[in-house]
Amino acid sequence: MRRSHPGRRWLVGAVAAAVCLLPLPGAAQPTTVPSAPLIRVAIAQAIDEAQLAIRGRFKIVTLNTAETLHEGRSLKRTTIIPLVSGLQLGKLSLPVFGVRIEPEQDASILINGRRFRGAVEIIRQQNLTLLIINHINLDAYLYGVLYHEVSHRWPVEVLKAQAIAARTYAIYQNLHNAGKDFDVTADIYSQVYGGRSSEQRKTNRAVDQTRGLVLTYRGELFPTYYHATCGGRTESAKELWQTDLPPLSGAACPYCTASPHYRWHAAIEADRLGRLLGHGGYQVGEVAAVEPVDYTPSGRIKTLRVRGSVSTATLSGKAFRELVGANLLRSLTFTAVLRDGTMHFSGRGWGHGVGMCQWGAFGLARRGATATQILSYYYPGAAVIPLASVTGWLPTTTKKP
Ligand SMILES: [Zn+2]
Repeated sequence: MRRSHPGRRWLVGAVAAAVCLLPLPGAAQPTTVPSAPLIRVAIAQAIDEAQLAIRGRFKIVTLNTAETLHEGRSLKRTTIIPLVSGLQLGKLSLPVFGVRIEPEQDASILINGRRFRGAVEIIRQQNLTLLIINHINLDAYLYGVLYHEVSHRWPVEVLKAQAIAARTYAIYQNLHNAGKDFDVTADIYSQVYGGRSSEQRKTNRAVDQTRGLVLTYRGELFPTYYHATCGGRTESAKELWQTDLPPLSGAACPYCTASPHYRWHAAIEADRLGRLLGHGGYQVGEVAAVEPVDYTPSGRIKTLRVRGSVSTATLSGKAFRELVGANLLRSLTFTAVLRDGTMHFSGRGWGHGVGMCQWGAFGLARRGATATQILSYYYPGAAVIPLASVTGWLPTTTKKP
């Protein structure tokens, strides 16, 4: 990652998952931060085939040499299949491992029925599956993200705060993943992105109204994590990912009580819970009790003890949540009670809790806060500045869940 060739950094890549922010030994700081970066979004990974359609004029070029393989006015729904010898595109056998589809003007590309702006790369992986990456300019990417991350019915100041946080996050990932095939995935592990099919006029306007604005700490970009609902207090990134940055140190949040995720309940059979923990190497048998050992300063479970029919295991709350399932166990603020062979969890909030609480931002906006005030609240010490004034980016040795 972080190659010393800033010009190429924004355009090219090689491999790995955007969910991991790996350590950056000897990471070179970018000399300049481009004003209009291209974001590379993995819209499909490890799939056996894909449906491609194109509305409007297009060109298909080889990935490595940019040699034109095919040109057309439009393309009806066509199946793409990975072959040992390359790619099969309908009746066309292409003796290459990767192609780039370049739309002309306002043409759009449909992958499995979803419409995307920008260019699309289709790469045959060594295990004969497809990796599909959308190359798209930053704000067009944000159009496709915002609709999923916040409701377009929310006050415009929340939408603007979310646009600035999502923009900063995307640029940060772009810098971080320069040596990889893509910057972000299109799912919850990065920012949910639905392409052009997901845009709304109001969320698009929030992107336009904040064009070029990013969040920085002392002039440098940082990973602007956010989450749905904190449930009372946001978490310090230090607790989860050993990132000790003041803007990610956590804040009290009395503003997200209107969230449907403010309180949650989940139930799972005690023997099934034991099997899930077994997948992580904790062979406890049928679970009899889940007991917190200690808490982070924000009140989330840091370490817990699981007593089972076979053994007792002590593990981090984070590992426990990953093994049980982050959608079932929505947060690490919970209590657990065993009743009739079923473990009942009662908790507060949804998400890792670091950075901006989206429902809290909504609550603040309803109290009259501006986008900048919302961001300063959830990222203490951070400032909103134009991308052109950014002096660099803060390396982290963190891993996003
Ligand atoms: Zn909150």
